[in-house]
Amino acid sequence: MATTRRPLRPCTSPGCPTRVQGGRCERHAGLAQKQRQTWTEVYGSEWPNIRLDFLTRNPRCTLCPRMARVADHYPVGIRELRRRGITNPHHDRYLRPLCWPCHSRVTTRHQPGGWNASRQ
Ligand SMILES: [Zn+2]
Ligand SMILES: [Zn+2]
Repeated sequence: MATTRRPLRPCTSPGCPTRVQGGRCERHAGLAQKQRQTWTEVYGSEWPNIRLDFLTRNPRCTLCPRMARVADHYPVGIRELRRRGITNPHHDRYLRPLCWPCHSRVTTRHQPGGWNASRQ
């Protein structure tokens, strides 16, 4: 009886030389897991208060005349700010006020399937 031995293939993470049975190597599987963070892990539990305070002081959307509902990290996203080692990524200088329509427009354009996909 011939045993079907699946040839090892490179990890699906681009540029990774590790050969695995399929999918990602252990290290990259771990990294992918880490990327599925909840908003509290990404933004920090103090974020709702900071956002509220920011929107109280900046009530208008920067892109249209509507009321702002979202404090958007701009031009650099929160993950990138953290990656750069910014200690206070929720500072006003990293934020801009947006209304929902403008926010969904910019986020779907810049991060397809990102924020909006995980949101109901
Ligand atoms: Zn890998
Ligand atoms: Zn707007």
